[in-house]
Amino acid sequence: MRYHSTNQPSLQVSLKEAILRSLPADNGLYMPNEIKPLGDDFWDEWRDLSLEEMGFRVASAFFGEDVPEEELRSIVNGTLGFDVPLIQLAPADFLLELFHGPTLAFKDFGARFMARLMAYLTREDQRELTVLVATSGDTGGAVASAFHHVPHTRVVILFPKGKVSPLQEKQLTALGGNITALEIDGTFDDCQRMVKSAFLDRALSEQLNLTSANSINLARLVPQSFYYFHSSRILPVGVEPVFVVPSGNFGNLTAGLLATKLGLRVKKFIAATNRNDVVPQYLATGQYQPRPSVATISNAMDVGAPSNFARMLALFGDDAKAMSAMMSGYAFDDDQTRAAIREVQSLYQYQIDPHAAVAWLAAKKWRAANPGNATIVLGTAHPAKFLEVMESELGRNCVDIPERLSCLANQPSHAIPMSSQELPFHEWLKQFSC
Ligand SMILES: *Cc1c(COP(=O)(O)O)cnc(C)c1O
Repeated sequence: MRYHSTNQPSLQVSLKEAILRSLPADNGLYMPNEIKPLGDDFWDEWRDLSLEEMGFRVASAFFGEDVPEEELRSIVNGTLGFDVPLIQLAPADFLLELFHGPTLAFKDFGARFMARLMAYLTREDQRELTVLVATSGDTGGAVASAFHHVPHTRVVILFPKGKVSPLQEKQLTALGGNITALEIDGTFDDCQRMVKSAFLDRALSEQLNLTSANSINLARLVPQSFYYFHSSRILPVGVEPVFVVPSGNFGNLTAGLLATKLGLRVKKFIAATNRNDVVPQYLATGQYQPRPSVATISNAMDVGAPSNFARMLALFGDDAKAMSAMMSGYAFDDDQTRAAIREVQSLYQYQIDPHAAVAWLAAKKWRAANPGNATIVLGTAHPAKFLEVMESELGRNCVDIPERLSCLANQPSHAIPMSSQELPFHEWLKQFSC
């Protein structure tokens, strides 16, 4: 299959280039040239397939021409391998727990698939690959865990000093080996700027064989569409779910749109955001106005210029009306989010993390205006990752911390402190590659 840039359909590349380059030179986003709906052979049996088999069929629709069946099966099986339970809070109110992977966030799906697909695509290259990633929290941990011990691959993670939670920081800094964490004296935006500057330095990028693990990478999106199929089929036959997606860069929601292109029946997508509400505003007014992000307690959604927006628009043929017909947006502030955490606990004895809490509020609002619809909230992170917020709403020691996370607390960690200037960072990278 060939891939093209959203900015320039004539700019065509192979799968390997689309994945390893991540971003086209014209600053667009890569899209597959065609997305064929799955055939009757899939729909006749999709409700009975194992999660692994279903994931394989979905992944084949995108990568089947380029990756041999056995390899693709092994990539999918290696990605999955943890539970994805659908919890019923109330008759029409469902929550899909996507946080049972190694780093307790849904980003494990994308990162684990990408690590395996990249290893396959570079299997005959004689060169070491350097994965560069900026993180505001969850992405770095998922990428570090997914690439740990992958041969011929090093990972360099930039995180803003003092701005990720202590447990998130441990996930970045405790692994060691081929994972190197840089503690940047600056903001997440600084980290992103530094990463971008390294890619723009052609000589450096070439010398290090740089690749990116950010959420615009198609290898991260495709595995995120698996769970839209998986959860839909758990509902009774004939019920079309409304998916409520806590969103930041909109990779997760875009993966849901890809699932509908393969033929999955979805009633509606709800874009749920915190005060960084650029997309809900767009859906309401037709005006797209990206702006600097503001900090909230659902910090993985603090995005002022969602990087997948152009791809979502492309999936609707650049038709704003078509997008608004399929998507609605709701935004909530921190006080409302905190109240929702308490309300879900008192109604259902369920601990909902701040990101899913935003989506739960959106689901409630949607159902009030559209009675009779079943909503599925995507539960994107385990509440233990946001202990401070949870404890301040529900009381001390209220959250059980899974062992995967608690055992990290005592491990030695290592991060290299660095200023937010670009040149010293480039110098460091050059040394690092020797
Ligand atoms: C990354 C993240 C999100 C936002 O996902 P996008 O694909 O960027 O929209 C939501 N919740 C959590 C917990 C996350 O880590």
